[in-house]
Amino acid sequence: LRTKSREFIDFYVEYQTKKDGRRSRRIDAIATNLQTVKKQLVEANETARTDHLTGAFNRRSFDEHARKVVHDFATHHTPVSLITLDIDHFKKINDAYGHDLGDFVIQACVRLLKETFSRSSDFVARIGGEEFAVVVGHSTLEVTKQRAEEALLKIRKEVLIQDKLDIRFTVSMGIAQLQEFEARDQWVKRADEALYHSKNTGRDRITLWAPKVAAAS
Ligand code: GH3
Ligand code: MG
Ligand code: MG
Repeated sequence: LRTKSREFIDFYVEYQTKKDGRRSRRIDAIATNLQTVKKQLVEANETARTDHLTGAFNRRSFDEHARKVVHDFATHHTPVSLITLDIDHFKKINDAYGHDLGDFVIQACVRLLKETFSRSSDFVARIGGEEFAVVVGHSTLEVTKQRAEEALLKIRKEVLIQDKLDIRFTVSMGIAQLQEFEARDQWVKRADEALYHSKNTGRDRITLWAPKVAAAS
């Protein structure tokens, strides 16, 4: 009976050990699968938020970010400004050098913007074909203007070399600081009015939104 009992106990211990081993391998496999799914979800989310040509944030994530910024401003009142920006005479660039080179200029524009607006509170987005928006957190109109001037100069000085051609381009900008109780669309509209003013007064320049800018647009 003792021998039989020992055999049974040995068998039972071995059986349980194997079972535990299988269970822990199964749990490991599930954990690995979950990690893969999590990574894929993070990547899918990233893809949905960015523009594939430039890697900048896309229109949708700009809308979401601006909505969040407006919401946070109601509580914290930390100054925040918006720059809207459009490449000057871009149709001429496309016509002269072709659509692919136009794309190359758009990519260069984002690269140069990201170099200037590289703080964690800066948000660079491509909101249209050759139109961009930069949300500059913790920043008043004046401070944003200085940083926008830096970007404008950098872009003006940039020489893109492609197929032995020297390509230069400029941009126009409009800046508006978020106001108390202002809705997102109104904020974007004011930055656009300032941009429109830059276009109408010669391009390659910056306009800060002011009531007279709105009246002229
Ligand atoms: P302005 O100085 O007034 O802005 O003149 P513009 O010629 O830049 O005029 P506009 O901003 O209206 O031009 C937009 C052009 O950009 C029209 C369209 O053919 C071109 N475009 C839009 N999206 C893309 C794109 O993804 N790639 C390329 N290569 N061209 C694009
Ligand atoms: Mg445009
Ligand atoms: Mg343009």
